[in-house]
Amino acid sequence: MGFVDENFGINVFNDSVMRQRLPKETYRALHKTIDDGRRLDPQVASVVANAMKDWAIERGATHYTHWFQPLNSVTAEKHDAFISPAQDGKVIQEFSGKELVRGEADASSLPSGGLRSTFEARGYTAWDPTSYAFIKEHILCIPTAYCSYGGEALDKKTPLLRSMEALNKQAVRILKLFGRLDATRVTPTVGPEQEYFLVDKTLYDRRSDLIFAGRTLFGAPAPKGQELGDHFFGTIKTRVQAFMTELNEELWKVGVLAKTEHNETAPSQHEMAPIFSIANVACDHNQLTMEIMKKVARRHGLHCLLSEKPFAGINGSGKHNNWSMFTNTGYNLLEPGDSPHESAQFLLFLTSVIKAVDDYQDLLRASVASAGNDHRLGGCEAPPAIISIFLGDELTEILEALEAGSHYDSREKIDMTIGVHMLPKFPKDATDRNRTSPFAFTGNKFEFRSLGSSASISAANVVLNTIVAESLRQFADELEQAEDFRSALHDLIVRTIHEHKRIIFNGNNYTDEWVKEAENRGLCRLDSTVDALPCYTAEKNIRLFETHKVLSESELRSRRDIGLDSYAKLTAIEARTMIMMARRQILPAVIRFTGDIATASRSIRDAGGDFASGSELLNTLCSTTDQLSSDLQLLEVKLAAVPDGDDPLAAARYMHDEIMPAMDNLRRSADALELYTDRSYWPFPTYDELLFSV
Ligand code: ADP
Ligand code: MG
Repeated sequence: MGFVDENFGINVFNDSVMRQRLPKETYRALHKTIDDGRRLDPQVASVVANAMKDWAIERGATHYTHWFQPLNSVTAEKHDAFISPAQDGKVIQEFSGKELVRGEADASSLPSGGLRSTFEARGYTAWDPTSYAFIKEHILCIPTAYCSYGGEALDKKTPLLRSMEALNKQAVRILKLFGRLDATRVTPTVGPEQEYFLVDKTLYDRRSDLIFAGRTLFGAPAPKGQELGDHFFGTIKTRVQAFMTELNEELWKVGVLAKTEHNETAPSQHEMAPIFSIANVACDHNQLTMEIMKKVARRHGLHCLLSEKPFAGINGSGKHNNWSMFTNTGYNLLEPGDSPHESAQFLLFLTSVIKAVDDYQDLLRASVASAGNDHRLGGCEAPPAIISIFLGDELTEILEALEAGSHYDSREKIDMTIGVHMLPKFPKDATDRNRTSPFAFTGNKFEFRSLGSSASISAANVVLNTIVAESLRQFADELEQAEDFRSALHDLIVRTIHEHKRIIFNGNNYTDEWVKEAENRGLCRLDSTVDALPCYTAEKNIRLFETHKVLSESELRSRRDIGLDSYAKLTAIEARTMIMMARRQILPAVIRFTGDIATASRSIRDAGGDFASGSELLNTLCSTTDQLSSDLQLLEVKLAAVPDGDDPLAAARYMHDEIMPAMDNLRRSADALELYTDRSYWPFPTYDELLFSV
């Protein structure tokens, strides 16, 4: 037996452990809850809790926690030991059904975006039994959703579960129309590819910007970047391989299906892709993956950077969110299928996604908006801030023929009526891929490529599930009324293609021509987080989320406000970090260096050396230092004038319009100085060291 056989899922209370450890009736009852979303009986819960506790203690656990995902991008945990006092001064270890199913957390310091005032700080956590409990460093972690006393979602899991339910409901209606009565449940599946950078920990520790902002705020480019294309899929260095090996082992132990590892485009950049799973589990596992990446890196003297744009001038990191829908009978609804009937069904689901993306471009853009991701989107390394769909030439031609067929009889050579033809399988091989598209069909799934590397994948999948649920709802409403299903289906698909084909774009998304073309097509362009986040509360979007009971208006508002607020706060942290580094590190270092050059030049001249380059360098250093100084003062003045009202949009807007340009200016002067300053004077590690030392 190898490592994987012996260790995969060893720290997970998974189905096989449940079957082994639970009485048959309990196991069956729990499965009803897991498979059909039935309410869990308290008695069943207490049997499960006890079995879970015994198992966890045998595996070395001493505590349990309700593991949840509050509205900032991390996971939260509060540990409770299993112990409870016994009469003889000893303790027994207990864990009740109540403690398993529901927790109460005073979480007044977690963001609620106005959903909860501090005097009613209580929040409740509730077990999500569809995501297995697991052990992480002596802690039994129970994946939970987190709500306020009034039942409002204070986390990222609750809306994700609700959106999965919404999608399920509408997709099952459609399947019924196709006579697929065996499929009683439809679940979105997600495989998130995670990009990251590794830098040496001792270098990291000497850069305040990496420590406080997770990205470099200063730094002249290294002589070599990614221009040779020699890093992508390149041989993995020994130290990185050791990290990856241990990362896989740790992920496998907690049941994460870590599958693919490779070097990415930029120097020091890498990727890990898991095998896909149901959306909420994929989300939990991605949170775990990011956490474990950071921890394992430390053990190898490395630091793992998850931020979207750690280094200027080379690619940043994203997260490709591969998404599809599966029936409980194991059928992928975005797989073209083996019969004309299946092809028709595929076309309906495909056009439901096309319509959804077109109708809710703004929401998709908002779902990936963050300060960090703004530096990546639109930078010709990641998709632009304009959402469009790549379908590939073959599929696009089929859709065009379908659309034309109903309009121009003369052009018809073949009968393009839906349900008559089988569609070909579409190539999945990488050469056919358009890497510049934000939303690409890749044979049997869509790949949403705009997500930032540090973000939770929840928001993007909440939006995806909900907007596709809405398309399917409209489709089902129409088709259920139809007298002749087949012709109604045909008309619906053709009409949908006609109405939404503007969202399809198979060309290069990085060009200026596309930006113009997209504008002509009336596509939505939202360049920054400040432009994108307010879309959450647009009238049509509130209606969407309320219709499907995914998020209420106040829940939407809270998400928008928390997003804007953290944008403003993160930018302020970055600005303060820059000021600190410029004033207390760069300026003193450069002045010291300039003084030494002055002294040296003078003594050379005194010794009779005829010497012009000394004064040239001196002049450059002095003028650039003056520039830096005035840039620094301007940033300080602007930072002192940040509006302090309680309008998060005004604050975020100010940061975007006033602070960020001032930060850019300061960086420009500092990076220029770096190139004139003796290396040994420069106060922190430079790009060449950070990017090429691991
Ligand atoms: P690549 O995009 O690198 O060619 P793959 O296409 O094999 O690699 O898959 C990329 C990611 O998409 C993996 O995480 C994979 O598990 C996931 N994936 C594959 N099929 C599906 C699906 N039906 N639903 C969701 N994710 C999927
Ligand atoms: Mg991919």
